[in-house]
Amino acid sequence: MVTHNDERNEGMEPGDEAEPGTPGTGEDICRKCDGTGQLEGKECPDCGGTGYVIRGIGGA
Ligand SMILES: [Zn+2]
Repeated sequence: MVTHNDERNEGMEPGDEAEPGTPGTGEDICRKCDGTGQLEGKECPDCGGTGYVIRGIGGA
């Protein structure tokens, strides 16, 4: 396990499929909240209120 200074894990949300910057992935609109970042008046749990998530792209 690589142990950099791993305290900045805030970029990772439950809806993310990979960490930001991972090759073969990219940001995509959160389908759960439709990119609004809000779900039923609260912060969307999937994207953490950002409105987008990290998804695998291409098919690597
Ligand atoms: Zn969302």
